[in-house]
Amino acid sequence: MPSYTFYCDDCGEFTLFFKSMEGNKESTDCPICSSASKRVFLPPNLYSMPNALKSRIEKGMEPRRMTREELGTKKLPQKRSAVASRPWQA
Ligand SMILES: [Zn+2]
Repeated sequence: MPSYTFYCDDCGEFTLFFKSMEGNKESTDCPICSSASKRVFLPPNLYSMPNALKSRIEKGMEPRRMTREELGTKKLPQKRSAVASRPWQA
């Protein structure tokens, strides 16, 4: 049985099961609030990231930014080794 996942702006994702592939629905009415909902085309295992981001945006939250210190802990060792590999610049 084919299933289609749709996204309602108010209620979020919902999945409907159809008896056949017939019609190939692009959109449907939300079963909860009856507003038009567009089909979600992403495969299920890719949902988590975009949805997390989407819900953050909907809640008005900015994505977390790395502080300079956090970036520094990852980038500094690289920079140091690059400098160390050019002793003539010292
Ligand atoms: Zn809805």
